[in-house]
Amino acid sequence: MVSNEDLQKRRAAEQERIAKTLAEAKGEHYETLKHGETAVAFVHEDKCIGCDQCTLVCDDNAIELFDKKMKSALMKVENNRKARILRDPCTGCRLCVLACPTDAIDMINR
Ligand code: SF4
Ligand code: SF4
Repeated sequence: MVSNEDLQKRRAAEQERIAKTLAEAKGEHYETLKHGETAVAFVHEDKCIGCDQCTLVCDDNAIELFDKKMKSALMKVENNRKARILRDPCTGCRLCVLACPTDAIDMINR
């Protein structure tokens, strides 16, 4: 019979393995992204949950959040926040791509 303590240990080890795998996958993706003067970030609005993580890492003030009307009649929330990139100040550094938990940001040609 497996004890609760053993189950907790297995669960923690599995969480660590998954987190490590995801971090590695994200790192590989990061290396292949366009960047620099010829690139600019782009937010896929449908994937953006307005969490504000990208604005925290952007040193160039190139991301702003705005309110978007909710479409769902099931939720009593009038607006949902979304991020958008300000193209001119964006330096193409890619940091926001790493920060986004929903993979809502891509790098595209400027
Ligand atoms: S690529 Fe860099 S400069 Fe451009 S929006 Fe993302 S974090 Fe800001
Ligand atoms: S980090 Fe991603 S999900 Fe969060 S506000 Fe920025 S683009 Fe949207």
